[in-house]
Amino acid sequence: MKSETLVMKQHNFSAGPAILPQIVLEQASQAVIDYNGIGLSILEMSHRSPEFVAVMQEARDLVKLHLGAGDDYEVLFLTGGASSQFFMAAMNLLDENGKACYVDTGAWSAKAIKEAALFGEIDVLASSKDQNYNYIPKGLNIPSDATYLHITTNNTIYGTQYHNLPETNVPIIADMSSDIFSRPIDINRYGMIYAGAQKNLGPAGTTLVIIRKDMLNKVSRTIPTMLDYNTHIKKDSMFNTPPSYPVYVCLLTLRWLKEMGGMDAMKTHNETKAQLLYNEIDRNPLFKGTVALEDRSLMNVPFVTVDPAHQDAFMAVCKDKRISGVKGHRSVGGFRASIYNAMPMSSVEFLVEAMQEFERAQ
Ligand SMILES: *Cc1c(COP(=O)(O)O)cnc(C)c1O
Repeated sequence: MKSETLVMKQHNFSAGPAILPQIVLEQASQAVIDYNGIGLSILEMSHRSPEFVAVMQEARDLVKLHLGAGDDYEVLFLTGGASSQFFMAAMNLLDENGKACYVDTGAWSAKAIKEAALFGEIDVLASSKDQNYNYIPKGLNIPSDATYLHITTNNTIYGTQYHNLPETNVPIIADMSSDIFSRPIDINRYGMIYAGAQKNLGPAGTTLVIIRKDMLNKVSRTIPTMLDYNTHIKKDSMFNTPPSYPVYVCLLTLRWLKEMGGMDAMKTHNETKAQLLYNEIDRNPLFKGTVALEDRSLMNVPFVTVDPAHQDAFMAVCKDKRISGVKGHRSVGGFRASIYNAMPMSSVEFLVEAMQEFERAQ
């Protein structure tokens, strides 16, 4: 079936699981029927088959390519969501006599802090909770003896994003669930990066972990086999049955990223889209943003109606125009347009036109 014959797609601004490139959806659906013409569905193939081992290998290689990571980094595709990394990171990397620093920039950071505190001393350097997390705290005083500094590079719920990393020589652990592969990064600043796939990489079901080898084997506690990064490193993420289909769809997205021109092209694409939408939010007298200007996220764009009475009316407009997933998170209210890598410029233009039309109708 050709995609033209399908029902007209909605403009998908969902925060996650989120939009994927159309070509990835087509290739992924084909592989469910017949993987590369071999007469087996990807869903019914052994993860020990040469075909799947090659999928895993290429996915790892492309992750390294896009992040600029060398042989000192390991790439893992795990399960349990980014939420499991909240405790796995500390369990594997923070000795009980050690200290880790965290910055509290939202609900996900707060959860990471809570879990890490089970394993060692946690120093919360700063929090933006007092302002409903609408900015990124700066000027941190980072103790040089900390094992790591944990940050959430993009705060999916509140729409804030780090545009500059904190100044420090301490290795950074970053929850990049909602902005991984959205821009070039300096990998050498990171001891570890993790990301649930379902925001900017693939479907729900796998979690990407990139870890620098020198971070490992520094804790004395006993770690259950399945929760030990070393287990998965030794077996190339196939100690047990990996989430094979989600990993395959991630591979398709990683290939798409390469074809699109890689991280530099993504940065330009994402900046252009975000600028268009923020410009409209700032220009249109009916709407306003909720976040400190310099910390605005290029991935999740929260906004509210200036007149609360307009909220339901604009929500109805969105529904009518098949603009989907724009309802704001309950802790911010209003609207949130998630405009991840796969979001085409045309859908952002469509949303902006809807906002302009709404203005004219008042
Ligand atoms: C969605 C999200 C999570 C949680 O991811 P799960 O895979 O559902 O556990 C964690 N951190 C950030 C920044 C997120 O956006």
